[in-house]
Amino acid sequence: MSAAAAPPLSRADYFDPAPFARRRAELFSRMGGSGVALIPNARERLRNASNPYPFRSDSFFYYLTGFSETQSALVLANGRALLFCRARDEREIWEGYRFHTENARARFAVEEARPIAELESALTELLAGQTDFWYAQGMEEYWDQLALRALKTARAAEQEKRGAPTALRDWREPLSAMRLRKDAHEVSLMRQAADIASAGHARALRACRPGMTEYALEAEISHEFRRRGADGHAYNPIVAGGVHACTLHYTHNDAPLRAGSLVLIDAGCEYRGYAADITRTFPVGGRFSAAQKICYEIVLAAQEAALAEIRPGSSLDLCHAAAVRVLTQGMKDLGLLSGDVDGLIERGAYQPYYMHRTGHWLGLDVHDAGAARRVNADGQEVWTAFAPGMTLTCEPGLYIPANHTTRELAGMGIRVEDDALVTPGGCEVYTAAPKSVADIEETMRQAAELDLS
Ligand code: CA
Repeated sequence: MSAAAAPPLSRADYFDPAPFARRRAELFSRMGGSGVALIPNARERLRNASNPYPFRSDSFFYYLTGFSETQSALVLANGRALLFCRARDEREIWEGYRFHTENARARFAVEEARPIAELESALTELLAGQTDFWYAQGMEEYWDQLALRALKTARAAEQEKRGAPTALRDWREPLSAMRLRKDAHEVSLMRQAADIASAGHARALRACRPGMTEYALEAEISHEFRRRGADGHAYNPIVAGGVHACTLHYTHNDAPLRAGSLVLIDAGCEYRGYAADITRTFPVGGRFSAAQKICYEIVLAAQEAALAEIRPGSSLDLCHAAAVRVLTQGMKDLGLLSGDVDGLIERGAYQPYYMHRTGHWLGLDVHDAGAARRVNADGQEVWTAFAPGMTLTCEPGLYIPANHTTRELAGMGIRVEDDALVTPGGCEVYTAAPKSVADIEETMRQAAELDLS
């Protein structure tokens, strides 16, 4: 194995380190241009016996580095980025190419790359003479202990010299604020994630036939995600036939799909770290019943109303209120509720049929970093105002319990979810799987026709 062994053709070959370097500079500037920050990566975890779970970098660490190997950490000090990663050892023969310190420095455009074994001593030295140590406590005990040991040693050693940090500050606040507004590099990756996820949903729609199982439909989506280069699912996919759709986080995905019922699929891929999050609900047999169509179109109208609220200055709460109004009116029209719509909303009468929020931030995490709301100095709750570059889901639903007395409505669960980017003039919905009743039925009809020919 020569020191200059090139990596095989992989994502690493078209990796651009510039956006990550810009984010590190931005964070350092938000730290006030001084202090030391430790941003460690996630640690590998065992799934069973000696088998680890597939490794996935911590989102904060990845946001600043693009580095996706285990046993790594980033230190920002004096405006310089130091990446700590694995050194060369015999495990490479088993596990394949690693960057090592010598390749990582150039590829990830950091000022220095050093072996992870040197992290604690290097951090201790860097803390000398500093006033602020930036670290996110409580995420990982292993790193908490290392960070506090380094701080303790630095304080003891520097007692009579330059001193060591007295302030422990949390970088989650500045970094979460940064992650809330996506830069052009992130938006481009999120569009690619959305394109793949949309194709996965379109494939499931075409493949669905009565009698097939939920997991077989899940396999169609997984197949499309991987063949198009996604890392995999961004979260555990929900493929819920019939009444299972009323279980919001149903992931058993093991029941047969019956003609006459609907199937709800909530699935999104992860592409180079970024999540897409889409839900579609469609009839297993390819045609909506009259009652299914009425309910489905109520949810579509609620989504349209919520999307119309996405523009700079608006908020997740205003989107939710718009969806709730349309859904509550729809519940009244269906006979699920009776009374004045304003009163029904005020009392939360819709909640037995719509019990979740209408959207959340989306990015490296499917429920992405950034506060949805905060409490201001007067103790009032203030929702984060939308600004261009924010990305979020819009996902109203309608869930009618299986024991409801109206037979054609009982056990019906519907959700429609798309992903939107806030733009200066409003928003852009950048997910695109078939959604209207006509588009869904026509796509399924054409797919069924191909079966017969
Ligand atoms: Ca979802």
